[in-house]
Amino acid sequence: MAAHPLTFGGVGPGTNRGRAARRADGGDPSAPEGAPGYHATMSHKVTLIPGDGIGPELAEATRRVLDASGVRFEWEVQDAGEAVMAQFGTPLPDHVLESIRRNRVALKGPITTPVGSGFRSVNVTLRQTLGLYANLRPARSINGLETRYDDVDLVVVRENTEDLYAGIEHMVGPDAAESIKIITRAASERIARFAFEYAVSNGRRKVTAVHKANIMKLSDGLFLESCRTVAAEYEGRVEFEDRIVDNMCMQLVQKPELYDVMVLPNLYGDIVSDLCAGLVGGLGVAPGANIGTEASVFEPVHGSAPKYAGQDKANPTALILSGVLMLRHLGEQAAAERVETALREVIAEGSRTTYDLGGTAGTAAFADAIIERLGASAGAAS
Ligand code: NAD
Repeated sequence: MAAHPLTFGGVGPGTNRGRAARRADGGDPSAPEGAPGYHATMSHKVTLIPGDGIGPELAEATRRVLDASGVRFEWEVQDAGEAVMAQFGTPLPDHVLESIRRNRVALKGPITTPVGSGFRSVNVTLRQTLGLYANLRPARSINGLETRYDDVDLVVVRENTEDLYAGIEHMVGPDAAESIKIITRAASERIARFAFEYAVSNGRRKVTAVHKANIMKLSDGLFLESCRTVAAEYEGRVEFEDRIVDNMCMQLVQKPELYDVMVLPNLYGDIVSDLCAGLVGGLGVAPGANIGTEASVFEPVHGSAPKYAGQDKANPTALILSGVLMLRHLGEQAAAERVETALREVIAEGSRTTYDLGGTAGTAAFADAIIERLGASAGAAS
């Protein structure tokens, strides 16, 4: 079978390493000397979209943490969302899309979607325009966070381009509305293959397909049939099973340890990934990656939380963990490990986190604590 564009654990066509810049002595001038895994000889050009609401302060905190990881970035900052509506007449100007296409990698803060009318959703448009067909949302317990379970380790793989999010909706007379659910064999097999390839390259044991094929026999039936077809290619390497979505939700709440990687159509994926986020500490700690063949966009699961905007209060963890997923995608495994470890240590220690994690620090001070840890681990290794 042809190599899959999935790049967690390796470098694939979604990365921009080919344009790497080298220092004469092969070292990275921005990397702390002696940092564990100190090897960063190249810089990565990344589009940074701060977004709306709490987005800009989280993006700044995350950029500082990633810059302290030992990897060199060239950030191309692009504004999108409410702030650019008046100037460009759209929250997603073409030059932002062009920047992502050029760099092939973007880190994105949340963007506000007007409810009911106006522009549909920057996020959905971005995913559809750039063909970001796979939405990866890992949910892993973090030491020091009080949750119902200590050992959750789940990965949601959500189909990102079709289902009820295809946006085919209309009124049928004044008193009825209709949304059309699109499921295709091509998109279903593609997302199933992504889930299995993720399982293989990340040493995961099982993929569970989630559906409602008992009721939607044609659409969800096709999704399930496609998953079964792909699962057959991985027989003996990755276990496969399926669950009806309502039962899946109950099982996840009661015994999350039974599950590993889940693959779902768009809407169920959106809902079940929030459920999984709740199991490990909530939206503030839930990262995400949107992977496509042309580009990949890394963003938290949460939205722009406008009521906290500009208060240096919001939790940067989800965006920083999205940055960790980005580091892995770029092939910077050691730096990804360092950042995640430093973040987890600061959370476990407890006092320098944001309010929602039980601490008293602001967004920027939380980031400072992580950067100090990164510096300390670099010093210890030298
Ligand atoms: P939200 O995720 O913005 O906020 C819900 C609540 O979760 C907040 O009130 C806050 O209590 C908490 N929260 C979320 N992120 C947090 C953080 N980092 N730190 C601390 N607490 C946090 O959801 P919403 O209120 O439904 O949506 C607000 C806007 O964001 C809407 O316009 C929505 O469309 C948009 N949105 C965008 C994205 C995206 O850009 N990918 C995703 C979801 C929602």
